[in-house]
Amino acid sequence: MDYGEGDAITKHDWTQWLDERAAAGLIRRLTVAGSPQGPRMRIDGRERLAFCSNDYLGLANDPRLAAAMHAGIDRYGVGAGSAHLINGHFESHDRLEVELADWLGVEDARLFSTGYMANLGVVGALVGRGDTVIADRLNHASLIDAVQLSGARLSRYRHNDLADLEARLERASGERMILTDGVFSMDGDVAPLAELVELAERFDAWLVVDEAHAFGVLGQTGRGSFEAAGLVPGERVLRVGTLGKAFGTAGAFVAGGAEPLEVLLQRARTYLFTTAQPPAVAEASRAALAIVRDEAWRRDHLAELVARFRAGVAGLGGLERIASSTPIQPLVVGEADRAVAMADRLDARGLLVPAIRPPTVPAGGSRLRVTLSAAHEVADVDALVSALRECTNIV
Ligand SMILES: *Cc1c(COP(=O)(O)O)cnc(C)c1O
Repeated sequence: MDYGEGDAITKHDWTQWLDERAAAGLIRRLTVAGSPQGPRMRIDGRERLAFCSNDYLGLANDPRLAAAMHAGIDRYGVGAGSAHLINGHFESHDRLEVELADWLGVEDARLFSTGYMANLGVVGALVGRGDTVIADRLNHASLIDAVQLSGARLSRYRHNDLADLEARLERASGERMILTDGVFSMDGDVAPLAELVELAERFDAWLVVDEAHAFGVLGQTGRGSFEAAGLVPGERVLRVGTLGKAFGTAGAFVAGGAEPLEVLLQRARTYLFTTAQPPAVAEASRAALAIVRDEAWRRDHLAELVARFRAGVAGLGGLERIASSTPIQPLVVGEADRAVAMADRLDARGLLVPAIRPPTVPAGGSRLRVTLSAAHEVADVDALVSALRECTNIV
């Protein structure tokens, strides 16, 4: 039984489905954290050294963010109480939008409550039935869902394959939109931005880049993929950033030209029909932005950790490194049960590294997804490398 996408079934046998998932080693389990996000966390009552968060700059538990959020609570209370367009758009939201737009050198930025919702919002507002979205096959799930919900035709090109993309752009009808992750969330590699920009211009297409893993991390000053590639985004480029990753807070934003951002304000359903994020969270994000901008040492330290990790795991048997220079450093193991066995062995040594299995990654592509943070120390990376060495010898 395979309840995959599009199966025509009238009634699910969920007991059987759960049993089959368990037999295939694909059951997911929640763990419970009892301390702040950081390299050393108390999880399910045990101390672990964790390599799995998206808290790339180590800001999730920064005292300056906490102080800003406290001050925001004192000033604005807790809940926003309504959607942005009713009376839930606070000064803190407004200032954050202006500061984000200034930081990125674009005309406008619009806050959303999550990155998932920002993606649904930007795609659904700009394209619909009769249009075509040409999307990288390895895009984040929220981008796939965004296209499906928009009603536009979804045309998926092979990962970073520009010839495939170009052929699909030629065949596309209606408004065209190219949709890609800036940094791919499961592989950690980057999109070929210069070529994507060129194709978008040639075909007069929107180019929407999801910078969830890039803002704060890539580029000399953390402005993401475009800065790293030495490119200035044009009029038809929109960038989505999440605040729950490198910024250490929660929420997301879309940044770009004044007109598309105005269209988002008028039309994005995940903007119109949801409660604004708590205003105090926006105060914390403003404090985060200042740190992202000013503390380049965090990116330098992170780059040093990435290089050390890659050198350390080079040549480890049974693990395939992916060409990634970002803090996402997957080690492809192959089968799901083997990935889980390795994660369990690391766990027994007090190290938390998630095993990522289908359907998040393709069958046979199960992996240990190591993510590094500026909050890690060199000694933490060394501990992980030596534990991996021991585990690969056993499994
Ligand atoms: C995490 C992520 C999102 C979703 O962002 P949230 O704010 O967590 O909802 C969107 N796109 C990509 C590529 C992501 O990694």
